[in-house]
Amino acid sequence: METQPKASHFINGTYVEDTNGTPIPVIYPATGEVIATVYAATPEVLDQAVSAAQAAQEAWGAMTGTERGRILRRAADLMRARNHELSVLETYDTGKPLQETLVADATSGADALEYFGGLAATLTGEHIPLGEDWVYTVREPLGVCVGIGAWNYPTQIACWKGAPALACGNAMIFKPSETTPLCALKVAEILIEAGLPAGLYNVVQGMGEVGGALVTDPRVDKVSLTGSVPTGKKVYAAAASGMKHVTMELGGKSPLVIFDDADLDNAVGGAINGNFYSSGQVCSNGTRVFVQKGIKEAFLKRLAERLENAVLGDPLNEDTNFGPMVSERQMEIVKSYIAKGNEEGARLVAGGGQLDKEGFWLEPTVFADVTDDMTIAREEIFGPVMAVLDFEDEAEVIARANDTEYGLSAGVFTKDISRAHRVIGKLQAGSCFINSYNDAPVEAPFGGVKASGVGRENSKEAIQHYSQVKSVYVRMGDVEAAF
Ligand code: NAD
Repeated sequence: METQPKASHFINGTYVEDTNGTPIPVIYPATGEVIATVYAATPEVLDQAVSAAQAAQEAWGAMTGTERGRILRRAADLMRARNHELSVLETYDTGKPLQETLVADATSGADALEYFGGLAATLTGEHIPLGEDWVYTVREPLGVCVGIGAWNYPTQIACWKGAPALACGNAMIFKPSETTPLCALKVAEILIEAGLPAGLYNVVQGMGEVGGALVTDPRVDKVSLTGSVPTGKKVYAAAASGMKHVTMELGGKSPLVIFDDADLDNAVGGAINGNFYSSGQVCSNGTRVFVQKGIKEAFLKRLAERLENAVLGDPLNEDTNFGPMVSERQMEIVKSYIAKGNEEGARLVAGGGQLDKEGFWLEPTVFADVTDDMTIAREEIFGPVMAVLDFEDEAEVIARANDTEYGLSAGVFTKDISRAHRVIGKLQAGSCFINSYNDAPVEAPFGGVKASGVGRENSKEAIQHYSQVKSVYVRMGDVEAAF
């Protein structure tokens, strides 16, 4: 497959190159080979992108929602028709197994385009009667929106931000993670092919400084970031100085609580999905697995048995179900956490090693007897490292689960339905699961509380974050004034 894009950036409906920018090698994580090179956006490229977005936005915002939605839904169809080639490219970009990318990346992006395409025509205001007078409200676009992506779900993030932004009548400039720059360019191509007017969805490459320049550009009205908490704090602060709207989808250290009465295999399955899908590189992962004492040994035994079924191999082979880390840097970060787990006295019950081969391969790793104060129980690792903690009772586990700066997700496994709802009700998290883990359908709001973020992606909630309300008071009689 040709992995080198035609050019680094996509601006005003066409590919744009400027080799004066810093070169960014794109590395296939399964082998460490360089598969493409792109160049970071120069100030000239950024200016071109913001100018194109600004120039195109007004006419787009003035179109009917039905017209805008039709284009987004056409793009969704094109993405589904090309799912295989897009998934292969996503696998090269991220190293994630094709078994995953075929069902969780372009397909999830297409769902967002279809969902927000459908919603576009329903975005209306309100009529508020006040006797003879009345107020009406108008839902207006924000203007130029910037999306900044992480490297774990590049196509999905490009669409989760682009689809609601465009549905509401905005223009978007998307900066993918420098680690995975390829797939957002395909999203831009498809949108243009579906009939999106030029300038409304632009892609620019670069590191944090390119993101920073976009956030501080006075012509930008909104910033949506998917990334880590430290980056989120910087971007939120920079956006605040320009009084810009923000959505912050940040990191987590989410609790997954498994009670004695849980269905064992389902609980183990939830813990596997919540720790090892995408080699653990998922923000909402339930990486603190609290297991009630009565089920602990059975849980660890069943988990060890099922880990035997992990297939670490060529990500392009559909039998492979566990891929490499996205980069050497991420692999080294995760290795240092595994070392800390061992040093601080957690019991390594599975994995823990690096594979002796090219690329950035780590084994799925499980630590048991983890305590709340250990580094692996407190910090986001963003890799395949599950920490299993013991607990005795409900009140205790709720307090311990909430004792974190994060609040992205939480899950509970139990057959007691009252307990399931009671416990979920008390867990401080934005995206929660009962007897399941990590489902993210476009119909459900997604996002965190506490340090895990601000705002929600997906669902009707996302509309609040890509539009603003104008209210208009209409007087039917005379104006009374003091003089
Ligand atoms: P990161 O914070 O290092 O980078 C995220 C993006 O921000 C990149 O595109 C980067 O270039 C850009 N960036 C960095 N500094 C910037 C600055 N000063 N101004 C503007 N942009 C800047 O995160 P990452 O390593 O790419 O991704 C992993 C993190 O993302 C994890 O913490 C993970 O939990 C989080 N994440 C969250 C979600 C979610 O939806 N909540 C989804 C995926 C990943």
